[in-house]
Amino acid sequence: MNKTTSSIRPITLDTLCFDNRFVRELPGDPETGNFCRQVEDAYYSLVKPAATEKPALVAYSKDVAGLFDLSDESCESPQFVRVFSGNELLPDMQPFSMCYGGHQFGNWAGQLGDGRAINLGEVINQRNERWYLQLKGAGITPYSRNADGLAVLRSSVREFLCSEAMHYLGVPTTRALSLTLTGDTVVRDMFYDGNAKPELGAVVCRVAPSFTRFGNFQLPASRGDLDLVKKLVNYTITTDFPHIGEPTKENILQWYKEVSERTLDMVLHWMRVGFVHGVMNTDNMSILGLTIDYGPYGWLEDYDPTWTPNTTDEANRRYRFEHQPQIAHWNLLQLANAILPLVDDENSDEGRKALEATLNQFAENYQARHLVMQLEKLGLTPLSEKTVLSEEQHSHDAVLVTDLLSLLQSVETDMTLFYRCLAEVDVTSSEAIASKGYVSLLADAYYQPDQLTEEYGLQLHQWIERYAKRCEPEGLTNIQRKQIMNAVNPLYVLRNYLSQIAIDKADNGDFSGVEELMEVLKKPYTEQEGKSHLAEKRPEWARHRAGCSMLSCSS
Ligand code: AMP
Ligand code: MG
Repeated sequence: MNKTTSSIRPITLDTLCFDNRFVRELPGDPETGNFCRQVEDAYYSLVKPAATEKPALVAYSKDVAGLFDLSDESCESPQFVRVFSGNELLPDMQPFSMCYGGHQFGNWAGQLGDGRAINLGEVINQRNERWYLQLKGAGITPYSRNADGLAVLRSSVREFLCSEAMHYLGVPTTRALSLTLTGDTVVRDMFYDGNAKPELGAVVCRVAPSFTRFGNFQLPASRGDLDLVKKLVNYTITTDFPHIGEPTKENILQWYKEVSERTLDMVLHWMRVGFVHGVMNTDNMSILGLTIDYGPYGWLEDYDPTWTPNTTDEANRRYRFEHQPQIAHWNLLQLANAILPLVDDENSDEGRKALEATLNQFAENYQARHLVMQLEKLGLTPLSEKTVLSEEQHSHDAVLVTDLLSLLQSVETDMTLFYRCLAEVDVTSSEAIASKGYVSLLADAYYQPDQLTEEYGLQLHQWIERYAKRCEPEGLTNIQRKQIMNAVNPLYVLRNYLSQIAIDKADNGDFSGVEELMEVLKKPYTEQEGKSHLAEKRPEWARHRAGCSMLSCSS
């Protein structure tokens, strides 16, 4: 039964409707004690969040509360703080942590599981949509291994803000309902260099239609428990991909194809906005193609495709910006291996071939869609949508894009600001094109004025001449082109230094920085009055500062 928005009534915490299907339909761990263990034959363990000293609200998202119709009064109530810091359970909640494995930095790591995530339950809203509520940092679970199940304020601010920022950028992501302080302190050695210190403990309540990861399928597959793999595949298809139909072999292959397409879509968006996930382990890959587990992520400032924010990955840079599509592909291969026995049999290798075809298609589609995305960033219509362009023009397009990307790397250029400045350039007047003033028009995007040599100026000028020519058949005015470009090139992104400023304030009890970023990042493509300080390139002081240019997994 679907309800129209007008008939939705705001509801209270006590009247939230839970339907805990994951726990009800999938096998759980019979052991209920909260101690670390290997969990076999099961997808979850029941576990309760830990009580904390003095829970307090830092921020919450009205829009996320609206996903399950929660009234403003409920969100501002003391009960909200208790529930979403893990200090009170609502009667129909059935808290549990999931069991999964994963490849970490390319190596099989065995059982990992929700070491500090506790699902409170699945809420059904008045439009019959299902939302999992999940606390991150609410204490030890059977999967905490040798860690404490807790999270600190700095990483929780980052997860809270980035989940929402990504959503408003149009990037598929898990959402964040709330950020609370626990009132406890948590000791962390931020750079694993022997300098451990107490930090403020915090809990984020994450929200998503599913938190299932590639690693959920991989763990039972690694143990040869095909029956368990099959149960989760069936469950996932019927719950999250109901349009596919019965989980037959053909439909499992179709499902894998859709997972692959969603993953591609997600990574393409990351490349469009300059996001680096930082830890693309297979346990951090959502089966719904949502960006999940915001740890040492970062935003490209100067366009450096080899950059990674994650200090743990500094040597190999496996998860660097430019490598993300290949890693997504590799991760999809691991998922294919996990489900292969379900679609293959002794007499035919058709299932294997179909999985391989999907993987090959991923690589092919990525190439094609990446070009389309890059053209859109330039306000240009791709060949497929404009038949007047010839094949020759198409390969010119690819060269135009490649040449621009090398130009962006040749001097330190802010990726975000470059595209916004380029949208301002007059490409219709031959006088303006001839006047060679581009370096000054794009000045806001450059970090090192002494790199802006005459030779660079000439290269930029030549590229813009080619670009202007390519704009001609589009038949757009400068204003129209600017509108089209600004709709895909954000002005405000959650630059690492901006989060750090908000975190420094929050650590001192001032949450205004978090609030301000949250509000502005709701409209990342629209210039907002009085907010130019949130659209500036990284200041020099942030170039090498911890939290701004580099992050560790410690959180
Ligand atoms: P990540 O790659 O950061 O998402 O985490 C890798 C694994 O470590 C997951 O199984 C997490 O649940 C677990 N983990 C990370 N931090 C903690 C912590 N503080 N306590 C318990 N488990 C953790
Ligand atoms: Mg994780």
